[in-house]
Amino acid sequence: MPPASFCGVCGAAAPAPFRPPPAETAPDLDLRPGEPTRSTLLGWVTTCRSCGACAPDLSALTPELAEIVSSPTYRAVAPGPTQRFLRWAMLCASPSERAEATMQAAWAADDANDPAAASFRQEAARLWAGDPDPQTGLRRLDALRRAGAFAEAMELLDTLNGDPEILAFQRARISAQDHGRYLISSALRPPARTPHVGHGKRKTGFWKSLFGQGK
Ligand SMILES: [Zn+2]
Repeated sequence: MPPASFCGVCGAAAPAPFRPPPAETAPDLDLRPGEPTRSTLLGWVTTCRSCGACAPDLSALTPELAEIVSSPTYRAVAPGPTQRFLRWAMLCASPSERAEATMQAAWAADDANDPAAASFRQEAARLWAGDPDPQTGLRRLDALRRAGAFAEAMELLDTLNGDPEILAFQRARISAQDHGRYLISSALRPPARTPHVGHGKRKTGFWKSLFGQGK
């Protein structure tokens, strides 16, 4: 049995945070993990059965959030697979956490063939604006491309310093106005090659680490 956990907003008993299985296949360019993690998406965010708060870890929320949880805006978030993620986004403390929640809403919308996915990606990209982290820049780029914001994506691409292979792949996809989903493994050549030197090496290592053993 998992240890007892309590909703930080209302104090009711809450399930322990979900622990997804590790991914065994490559992630998408926006870092949505591969299987078997991918299919467990809806389990990543829990809804408190007492107050309706939504978060990956309900015990990490604080009582002050009760005001948002009981607000008409929070209550009005449409039911469906994206609801828990959009509600969690409203409770997030930082723009980067809110962007993550909003991207997860986009993934849930993808799985439900809900065209709102594009607007969620636009919102995540907006929340990520100004984040100096190179990996975040690449995720933002993919969010804009997949939202069909090709001009904005191309403008951003010229400012990024991420993995050159990813950038070249994205440039070709953006030029073709392709908003499709791609795996990182489509953009990177097989790992048995000379690693990049200098600052590029660390980034390549990061991307490669997402493949798991021997992939
Ligand atoms: Zn609660």
